[in-house]
Amino acid sequence: MSHAADTVHPVDPELAALLTAEESLQRDTIRLIASENYASAAVIAATGTVLTNKYSEGYPTRRYYEGQQNIDRIEQLCIDRAKSLFGAGHANVQPYSGSPANLAIYFAFLKPGDTVMGMALPAGGHLTHGWGVSITGTYFRPVQYGVRKDTGRIDLDEVRDLAKKERPKLLFAGGTAIPRTIDFAAFAEIAREVGAVFAADIAHIAGLVAAGVHPSPVPVADVVSTTTHKTLRGPRGGMLLCRETHQKAIDKAVFPGLQGGPHNHTTAGIAVALHEAAQPAFKAYAQQIVANARALAAALVEHGFDVITGGTDNHLVLVDVTGKGTAGKPLARALDAAGIVTNYNTVPFDPRKPFDPSGIRLGTPAVTSRGMREAEMKQIAAWMDAIAQAPADAALQARIRGEVKELTSRFPAPGL
Ligand SMILES: *Cc1c(COP(=O)(O)O)cnc(C)c1O
Repeated sequence: MSHAADTVHPVDPELAALLTAEESLQRDTIRLIASENYASAAVIAATGTVLTNKYSEGYPTRRYYEGQQNIDRIEQLCIDRAKSLFGAGHANVQPYSGSPANLAIYFAFLKPGDTVMGMALPAGGHLTHGWGVSITGTYFRPVQYGVRKDTGRIDLDEVRDLAKKERPKLLFAGGTAIPRTIDFAAFAEIAREVGAVFAADIAHIAGLVAAGVHPSPVPVADVVSTTTHKTLRGPRGGMLLCRETHQKAIDKAVFPGLQGGPHNHTTAGIAVALHEAAQPAFKAYAQQIVANARALAAALVEHGFDVITGGTDNHLVLVDVTGKGTAGKPLARALDAAGIVTNYNTVPFDPRKPFDPSGIRLGTPAVTSRGMREAEMKQIAAWMDAIAQAPADAALQARIRGEVKELTSRFPAPGL
């Protein structure tokens, strides 16, 4: 039992048991959800502190409450580290998560009914980039771009033509299932041509950007939004980066526009994560994330899987599994039974429904945090192939689950 579970146990054994079970699950499985990771013990410790007791509406030195002597310094430290790590003129570290961070961008720059242009969710975009069921697709007028059918990649000429025709006020780049490098400079140019605010959403790739493994949008974007808990390996949270010219609009949109008091315990965890991300070891970590994703994609191709775009430039691998005679959901279920955790995902131009799509999405941030390398990626691909060939074979799943447990026991997970 962890220290946290130990502490909770005498007060609430029911919750402590669930916490312990989750710790085992995270310890004994191969976690390939592209948006997940293992935060370090220091990040988790900083997040679980008395800072949760504090109210501090406002910004450092401009609060609506007294008693902010330490909180001001913690938030300012976090802001300074974010600015330094990403080379940004301003950072707002208060958004509760990635979706509220994006909503703050709308509130800062748009009026209801204004046009937003973003990548369609089924093509790899995010709900908050104007997808229909999101507030961003109902209170605003959404225009959506996708990827080319023949390449699976964004076609910037298509994006430009659509932008010129629809004249969006806000243009989003970024997404949840994009396995290739995003040309932020080209997006910025298109936004400039049509007079749109350019927002780069680096929720998935923030850690890669911080490490210089993916080009940074900070010099070219009006505003950059991110989560802090994906490749950046912090606690669950969000951040907005922008030039000083947009500082006032962004800060006002987050508070008092959208949120109340900041989650100070989260701010502390983010500060620790930003400090970790500024160390040389983090650069090596980010490089290994990409090396592992490339190795995983190459091994899957060798096993006959249809990897979208044929490979990856980042942490993410998108696979159409129809060629294996299965679909995303049954395969993801079978893999989970074998201790390999993924998510089913639409692929571009998916003929199947979003709740039962053709693909699975894989990512290497979490396994790389455990120290796994190319050899382990090959092993994982071989297991995936065996399971894809017999997704209903419970005995096979049980055998592989045992092998997975043996492998994971050799790669201790941070924070557990
Ligand atoms: C994860 C993600 C978000 C939203 O983050 P939440 O913290 O889940 O609200 C926004 N945009 C992109 C591209 C994401 O991948």
